[in-house]
Amino acid sequence: MTSRNIVFSARLIHTMNPELPTAEALVMRDGKLLFVGSKREALEIAGPDAAVELFPESTIVPGLIDAHVHLASLGRELTTVGLSSARTEAEAAALVAPAKPNQGDWVLGRGWDQNDWKGTTYPSKASLDAVKPTTPVFLTRIDGHAAWVNSEALRRAGITAATQDPPGGRIERDAKGEPTGVLIDNAIDVVAAQIPEPSESVAQKRLKVAIETCARLGLTQVHDAGMDIATFRLLQSWDALGVLPIRVYAMADGQGAEADAYADMGPFSGRHLEMRAVKLLADGALGSRGAALATPYADAADQSGLLLISPDQLAAKAQQFSARGFQVAVHAIGDRANSLVIATLSKLGAEGRHRVEHAQILTAADVPKLAKLGLIASFQPTHATSDMPWAEQRIGFERAKGAYAWRSVLETGAHVAFGSDSPVEDPNPLWGLYSARTRQDHAGQPAGGWHPEQKLTGLEALAGFTTGGAYASFAETRRGQLVVGFDADFVVLPIDPVEGAPSELINAKVQVTVVDGSDVYRAP
Ligand SMILES: [Zn+2]
Repeated sequence: MTSRNIVFSARLIHTMNPELPTAEALVMRDGKLLFVGSKREALEIAGPDAAVELFPESTIVPGLIDAHVHLASLGRELTTVGLSSARTEAEAAALVAPAKPNQGDWVLGRGWDQNDWKGTTYPSKASLDAVKPTTPVFLTRIDGHAAWVNSEALRRAGITAATQDPPGGRIERDAKGEPTGVLIDNAIDVVAAQIPEPSESVAQKRLKVAIETCARLGLTQVHDAGMDIATFRLLQSWDALGVLPIRVYAMADGQGAEADAYADMGPFSGRHLEMRAVKLLADGALGSRGAALATPYADAADQSGLLLISPDQLAAKAQQFSARGFQVAVHAIGDRANSLVIATLSKLGAEGRHRVEHAQILTAADVPKLAKLGLIASFQPTHATSDMPWAEQRIGFERAKGAYAWRSVLETGAHVAFGSDSPVEDPNPLWGLYSARTRQDHAGQPAGGWHPEQKLTGLEALAGFTTGGAYASFAETRRGQLVVGFDADFVVLPIDPVEGAPSELINAKVQVTVVDGSDVYRAP
């Protein structure tokens, strides 16, 4: 932090302040905004000793906020073997060949997708055994619902032809019943349980990489949707030392073994780290038909998904944490889960700003309830554009009208916050803005967008990643807009995310990310 006046001037500043929506320049000092307005006045107010940064081609927007990420998992994703570029099984195995163990004596990797490969059949342990005969290898599929492992990993987990499939899981086998090296859903855990926890230094490195990645992408704050205590303690120590570059709004993991410890501890507020929310899970994912629906899946008449917690338990957890001063944020994908979560949170009172995470499939009756009850819809725009090739097969046309229904919810007046759910999706918030504005993939498909009536304007989309995230973390009087007296958190972009063509968002790279008046990232 500096006590010098600093001026940033740009082609255009979108302030997100309705009273002064655009400006040319801002002045900051000691991490706060002193002035927002014309360049001439800014230079005058800042005085002759000010540092002046000119970005005549660029656009400045308030710091982008991702309201739903998983930092520890993102760090793991970024530091293990990436396989998404492989176009064949052999290419994937070749990427594993030079890898050194990256967790205990295991080699972990992720991102393979046999649907991208010629032949599209599942890979086998043989290709991994050829490159790693004695080191256990564990490679997660792109969606997290399958793992590809070698013989050493199977051996350590004790999986043989005689092993039965665990409930909710499947061990892929050849014609003779021998495990092939691919494990589906709960069968993944049988091997995953053998992988040692990351060491302290590995955990630190991963978290650091995740945070640096967020800063590089223009994120000045992330909301971590369910943090373990070890990660929280690490962030707390960095924050105390003043080396946590971006702001982290943490949600305690409310359903794991550490839930009671968190409840006892109560909320925490540091400089860049805050913990005043709890994350609970009501149901599973739509892709694997784990999302709890009110009536059966359109493509599986005998299935309607599952609640992961009983309504009584959910109510008890929500009460326990809200009584301790926590905001309650509950993952709900299916319409049945959303109805339950809305009803449960409605009993806690609107001042708690409780949140429905994902709010992915809403019934027409539930859409207006969010605004009425003061609940926040925490959406991830990229989920819609990732899921759109198959989502409608799962739920049918009628229910799809209330799916990823951003505009319907916004029009009721509800508070909406946007995020990525990274590492499930890419953490790049510009891709989130693109999805929100287009409901198309990066190739511009489908033409006009999927259920285009839910598309948002550039300003509405940006609000989801700025003012929406600020409100969801009780910070709307300090952040989310560029207003005098607010924290100097902002991003310099080479494109205009509001008025420019959405397609420009796909390849745009952030130029500068500023938190508290200091650069936390600057493009080389
Ligand atoms: Zn999540």
